This record gives sequence, C-alpha cells and structure tokens, in this order.
Amino acid sequence: MKYGRKRVLVTGGAGFLGSHLCEQLLARGSDVLCVDNFYTGVKDNIAHLLGNPYFELIRHDVTFPLYLEVDEIYNLACPASPVHYQRDPVQTTKTSVHGAINMLGLAKRVKAKIFQASTSEVYGDPEVHPQTESYNGNVNPIGPRACYDEGKRCAETLFFDYHRQNGLRIRVARIFNTYGPRMHPDDGRVVSNFIVQALEGRPITIYGDGSQTRSFCYVDDLIEGFIRLMDAPDDVTGPINLGNPTELTVGQLAETVVAMTGAGSEIVYRPLPADDPLQRQPDISLARKHLSWAPTVALENGLERTIAYFRNRLD
Ligand code: NAD
Ligand code: UDP
Repeated sequence: MKYGRKRVLVTGGAGFLGSHLCEQLLARGSDVLCVDNFYTGVKDNIAHLLGNPYFELIRHDVTFPLYLEVDEIYNLACPASPVHYQRDPVQTTKTSVHGAINMLGLAKRVKAKIFQASTSEVYGDPEVHPQTESYNGNVNPIGPRACYDEGKRCAETLFFDYHRQNGLRIRVARIFNTYGPRMHPDDGRVVSNFIVQALEGRPITIYGDGSQTRSFCYVDDLIEGFIRLMDAPDDVTGPINLGNPTELTVGQLAETVVAMTGAGSEIVYRPLPADDPLQRQPDISLARKHLSWAPTVALENGLERTIAYFRNRLD
C-alpha cells in the first residue's frame, strides 16, 4: 500500500489476543478488519472499537472461504484453551487446517503478507528444555490435545509449503502461555482460573501435584512481538518463539495469586489431564536477535493488572 492506511485482517479478532492486536494496529494507523465467529471470543472485547471508522467487524467462520482485499493478515482464529479446543475437536482441527488453507489462499490471491499464531504446543511434552525452534517436538498424534497440536503443526506445514511453492511472504510465531485482561472468566486456562477462583473465594484447582512448569507472558509484550515480526524483513519467516522465559511451577503460580489477591482460598488437587506437558520454557534467542524483542513486564506487574481487570469485571 503506497498511499493511505494499511488494510489489515485479524482473524479471531474478538478473542483475548485478537482484541489487543486490533487495538494496537488501530493505534498505529492501520485500517483493521476483524473476522470472528464468536466461538470463544465475545463482542465485549471489541465493543470499544466499533465506533472507530477504521475498524470493521465481520462475523465469519474461517473454515469457509473469505474474499477481501487486504495488505496483511494475522491468522489467530482458533480456540486456545484446552477446555474449549477439546469440546469439539474435529472443528478445532478444521479451524486450524481449513482456516489456514483459506487464509493462505486469500493471501496468495491478494499478495498479502500473512502471520500465523502457532503455539508452543507444537513441541508437545518437550524432552528438550528450554524449547528452541529447531526442536521438532514430542506430540502424541492421537491424544486429546492432538486436535489442537497437530492442527497447528499442519498449519505450519501449509505456511511453509505456500512460502516455498508460491513465494508467499509468511511469518510464523510460536506463542507460549500468555495472560492478561480480556481473558474470559470461563476461559479455563490456568491464570484466569486461579484469579477468578481466588476473587470468588472458591478453592484453587491445581491439576496434578502442581510441579509442572509454564512460563507466562503478559499480553502487551506478546502483541509488540507480533507486530515486530510482521514488520521484520521478509527473510524472517520464523518459526520464532514468543513468550516470557521466566519459568515457574503451577503450584508457585497458585501461591502467588492467593498472596496477591489476599484470598483465603484453599488449594485443592485434581487429576492431571492426559498429555499435560510437564515443563515449558521458551528460548527466545531468535526473537532477541531478529526482532530485538524481549518481554518487559514482570509476572507480578502483569498479574496485578490482570487481577484488577477481573476484580472490576466480576464486580
Ligand atoms: P481465544 O479463544 O480468546 O481467541 C480465539 C478467537 O478465534 C475467538 O475470538 C474465537 O471466537 C475465534 N475463532 C475460533 N474459531 C473460529 C473460526 N472457525 N472462525 C472464526 N473465528 C474463530 O484465544 P487467544 O488466547 O486469543 O488465542 C488466539 C490465537 O493465539 C489462537 O490461534 C491460539 O492458538 C494462539 N495461541 C494463544 C496462546 C495464549 O497463551 N493465549 C498460546 C499459544 C497460541
Ligand atoms: N491447570 C491447573 N488448574 C487449572 C487450569 C490449569 O492446574 O484450573 C494446569 C494445567 O494442567 C497445566 C497448566 O495449568 O499444567 C497450564 O494450563 P493451561 O490450560 O493454562 O494451558 P496449557 O499450557 O496446558 O495449554
């Protein structure tokens, strides 16, 4: 786009990450088209953007073709919480795979640059720690998480085949656990679960013994990484890890949330779901090198903002 605003499509734009991305792209002067079928996303996440003349909302399911004219595409459409992506696993795979085919086809037709929201789940239950992009992963192809993990792996395959076969300009980000305001209270992922349980004075549910680890990135940091990757030179295709390398156990997260909310919640233990990865931590050397990117928000600060959001919302 030589003159005027860049036209940017965000699929999954009414979701947790998508709504923050739409907001940032508008703030940076883009014309934003948000596509969502509201499977896990909600209008409340983007209601404050609807009055902006450079924001457009389209209700559409990405498993069906879409005809638009845009310069860039961020493909985020896909339920991300294990509870939601396992509810209709066939639809989850369709969303990842057919969604990728449709968006790549669109990018090819209009010669747009296209970004894929991939995931640390492509590493499965990793035997290499921390995870580098060169690690090919340890995914169970027939387990309950496979609809998501293999769907996302296949989407990566499609991105790289379109790149090699059709010269498409692609960007693939492998996103590690991210949290922040606008996660749905019923999202089911650990940070929102713990905060909502604590604020409602309910028991904190730790799955397993709480010794499994994750590394949590605050949403603002992640979105900055998305935009830097999209704006990077075309040879920076990724896959590139985006996440916060500070690793902690789920048990430590529970204690931190209880302490920060001042809740009197007890901690209860529930069975560990099948194939739940035991450890996860991103190696972000590539993001540092190619995007000059690293997270800036410490866990306590991010949790403070997230707790304030849920306190307000639950009130
Ligand atoms: P989310 O569930 O809040 O957002 C997903 C959005 O996609 C929702 O608005 C949902 O309604 C929409 N959607 C789902 N299926 C669709 C379809 N068929 N057509 C159109 N829209 C559809 O989750 P999120 O955390 O915002 O995740 C966004 C993306 O980032 C996902 O692709 C997810 O796999 C990826 N990701 C997120 C994380 C994280 O920690 N948040 C980690 C790794 C990867
Ligand atoms: N978890 C937990 N209690 C909850 C929700 C999740 O102990 O109420 C655990 C889950 O078993 C996993 C970790 O927290 O080990 C992160 O889970 P989440 O669903 O947030 O994302 P994942 O990284 O597993 O995709």
